[in-house]
Amino acid sequence: MLASTLFSLPPLPYPENALEPVISANTLSFHHGKHHKTYIETLNKLIKGTDYESSSLESIITETAGKADKMQVFNNAAQSWNHTFFWNSLKRGGGKPTGIIAQKLDADFGGYANFKKELANACVTQFGSGWGWLVAAGGKLKVVKTGNADVPFVKGQTPLLTIDVWEHAYYLDYQNRRADYVEAVIDKLLNWSFAEENLANA
Ligand code: MN
Repeated sequence: MLASTLFSLPPLPYPENALEPVISANTLSFHHGKHHKTYIETLNKLIKGTDYESSSLESIITETAGKADKMQVFNNAAQSWNHTFFWNSLKRGGGKPTGIIAQKLDADFGGYANFKKELANACVTQFGSGWGWLVAAGGKLKVVKTGNADVPFVKGQTPLLTIDVWEHAYYLDYQNRRADYVEAVIDKLLNWSFAEENLANA
């Protein structure tokens, strides 16, 4: 049986080894090539022949959020979206932000060090699977965490960056040490120009 081609797996925005040593090529290969791909293929099967076939991913997510009978569609649509957003939230090099984002982190968190502590804490304390996020909401930057597939834009918050804290994101490289994975990602991989673009469109 041919897989549906409604949505397709976007290529990674960098080679699989680009995020080493923080995230190995092996992890990225499984995470993108198996996990992300499966969310998209499952979504395609679920929406084939329904009204969602002609919808954007964002509208499917918004329309199915919080509806018990649409939970499977929501979970697979949101995970498809979250992973593409996550790949773009990372880049080789990372480091501290400059410019408008740095100014806003100073204003809204009292500096980069406090922001970093807050994001790491959200990622580590998310019980079970989920995501840590930097979002813009009500003119301010905020750190939030979501469980499983949940995504902040259904609550009117604009995502700027995310970190996947599902075990599949780090287990091959860090085993149970989620805190070490999160700290390395924040220090070395965050793509602040992507955050700046998202802020400009907020
Ligand atoms: Mn994941």
